[in-house]
Amino acid sequence: MGEIVHAAVLAVGDELLNGGVSDTNTARIALALEPLGVELLFSLTVRDRVEEISQGISHALSKVPLLFVCGGIGPTSDDVTREAVAQALNLPLELSQEAWESIEKRLKERSIPVRDGHKKQAMIPRGAIPLPNSAGSAWGALVEMEGRVLVLLPGVPKELSPMLERALELLPPHLRGGERIMVCLRSFGLPESEIDQKLQPIWERGRVALGLRVISPRHTEVRLSGSPKAVEEALGVAISLLGEAVYSTKGESLEEVLGRLLVEQEKTIATAESCTGGMISHTVTNVPGSSRYMIQALVTYSNEAKEQLLGVSRQTLVDHGAVSPQTAEEMVRGLRRVSGADCCAAVTGIAGPGGGTPEKPVGLVYAGFFVDERCWVREYRFSGTRMEIKTLTTMSVLNELRLELKGRGGEVLSKG
Ligand code: ATP
Repeated sequence: MGEIVHAAVLAVGDELLNGGVSDTNTARIALALEPLGVELLFSLTVRDRVEEISQGISHALSKVPLLFVCGGIGPTSDDVTREAVAQALNLPLELSQEAWESIEKRLKERSIPVRDGHKKQAMIPRGAIPLPNSAGSAWGALVEMEGRVLVLLPGVPKELSPMLERALELLPPHLRGGERIMVCLRSFGLPESEIDQKLQPIWERGRVALGLRVISPRHTEVRLSGSPKAVEEALGVAISLLGEAVYSTKGESLEEVLGRLLVEQEKTIATAESCTGGMISHTVTNVPGSSRYMIQALVTYSNEAKEQLLGVSRQTLVDHGAVSPQTAEEMVRGLRRVSGADCCAAVTGIAGPGGGTPEKPVGLVYAGFFVDERCWVREYRFSGTRMEIKTLTTMSVLNELRLELKGRGGEVLSKG
């Protein structure tokens, strides 16, 4: 006990190999195994061919004691995974009476005539434990042979999830590792290479597994997994090394964190966007319940819209241009006037690829902020594609507001 147990996934389906469908089941299985101290050593994807599936199973079970096979257990003639499992394990398929009765009942409830193919879905290898399918009709199975376990699951993700949970409850104790936890730390502002470098002390200690994933430019997720004690310790170190760039240790999105701060502080938000074309308000409103704080979002793309809707002066636009700190400030002051929101953010910039000049290159963005009584403008110089610049602008604005609200919240707390 305490050791890591290794497992593998065999995903079955022509559609996974011809570009039709992306395999999401493997990730789902990997995440469900993590807390049990079970790690996926590899995954294989094969076509719906008995020989190929059977060879995949034999190969995987020669390397790991636990294998999850998903897909190809439905009623149609291209669903041949059951036969392949039987062949690889050298076990005959037998009708599970329990499974068949439940499938017949399900078909009757839906007025679907019973066909031969339906019976296939109740066939499981001799001696296997049947796994009921609450969201579909194909039953799965858990087969244990000489200490090795094969779990047979459907391909449809919403059917697979509950069956996987049930299968994990049935795993024999020797296929469970020591208790492990995983913490998902998200940060914005630092490039991935810098995060990697800053986290060197954690890499070097080697007590936790560390995974880095770039969500979007300068937006990174760090996963720490291992024993609860080691993860807790590494988390403390990571937070102190990455500082205020860390916005969540629970895997939340930046917009969720900002939304939570706004709700906690009973503040409202409004946006006026030029170069992001509405992306900031779209992101803010992706959070369920955002109507509690989002009160207005304007897309003021043209100079006329900036003048008419936000009251930016023509003179400012003529003297300094639409992409200038002066315009950003007038935009956000106008937004405060029209919306009355506690937190206002306005952006103007050059998303490219055209439109840049030596003085005002592509990626130059000004963001104006007005939070409570404080108004300020930030200049950003981003690089990347148009979409990357829009995303960077959006996330930078949300992050700036998060930092502002967090600081203010901290002050209130320390005073209290
Ligand atoms: P059913 O009873 O629904 O036929 P099944 O086990 O036969 O279940 P498949 O026919 O292999 O499932 O796949 C059905 C659908 O499930 C696929 O078209 C695909 O949309 C989805 N699917 C299959 N495998 C995966 C996978 N590895 N990741 C994500 N989706 C998958």
